Amino acid sequence: MNIAILSRGEALYSTKSLFNAGEARNHTIEVLDPSYCNLGIENGRAFLQAQGERVKDLHAIIPRIGASTTNFGANVVSHFEAMGVFTVASSAGILNSRNKWTSFQIMAKNQIPTPKTLYTSFFDYEQQLATFNGKPIVIKLLEGTHGEGVILTESPQNALATVETLTATGAKFLLQEYIEESKGNDVRAIVVDGVVVAAMKRKSKVGEFRSNLHRGGTSEKITLSIAEEKIAISAAKAIGLGFCGVDILQSKNGPLVLEINSTPGLEGIENTSGKNISKSVIGYIERNSR
Ligand code: ADP
Repeated sequence: MNIAILSRGEALYSTKSLFNAGEARNHTIEVLDPSYCNLGIENGRAFLQAQGERVKDLHAIIPRIGASTTNFGANVVSHFEAMGVFTVASSAGILNSRNKWTSFQIMAKNQIPTPKTLYTSFFDYEQQLATFNGKPIVIKLLEGTHGEGVILTESPQNALATVETLTATGAKFLLQEYIEESKGNDVRAIVVDGVVVAAMKRKSKVGEFRSNLHRGGTSEKITLSIAEEKIAISAAKAIGLGFCGVDILQSKNGPLVLEINSTPGLEGIENTSGKNISKSVIGYIERNSR
């Protein structure tokens, strides 16, 4: 089959891992930078030009769309969808997962548990903050990644000052209950085609509550509980991503979905779990594309 990885970085671990897994199965793999794709519609049909040529005979794409190119990147994926090319991550899923609030709304529509989260009116902060009963509150930018734009405020006064400051800068953010018992840990599960193919526990470094590996967190192998596995699979299905990472907090009331990532980094989790995720992605394509 002819498969394209949509990625800006040929040398990135994840891109190389997917490339090698495809070649190992004798597929023809190419890496296309979505920023250099030209999209067109002619005679009622979508076509796409990359590196000066029209892309033809492509069976599947593996989108690896970075946060800096979400809109155009998702548009390129949408164009391939219009051309009938199979994608392991739908354009709608990519867009929905990039907005934290939209993601939580989709989880709620599907009765998937998440931490209590508010997206409130500018005029009502104090009352909204009071609904957290004086407990620590996490304030999150709507479209932050790698833990940037995630702030833990220990007191209502601190929360109010932060909220007012963010509002003054025009930032859009959510208020979320702090799941203290997760103790700076979370779980990352990779879902491919409705199955959890790898998982790891991420632990934040001392003095930090964000467990992102980009923030100095460490990882360890973990076997998910049945409830964690179920919630990861349901979250992937609800958001519309055949291949994604689902972040889960372990709360005293059971697992809570924190975030869904349409472009999960593979290096940390393949090394930690010992699982070949890329091979599973290629298998998914082989089962589904024409
Ligand atoms: P990002 O998309 O930037 O990674 P997240 O919402 O996933 O933002 O938050 C980053 C990290 O902060 C999480 O991986 C988790 O370790 C911690 N965290 C985020 N929200 C909460 C929360 N409500 N309670 C406890 N820890 C949290």
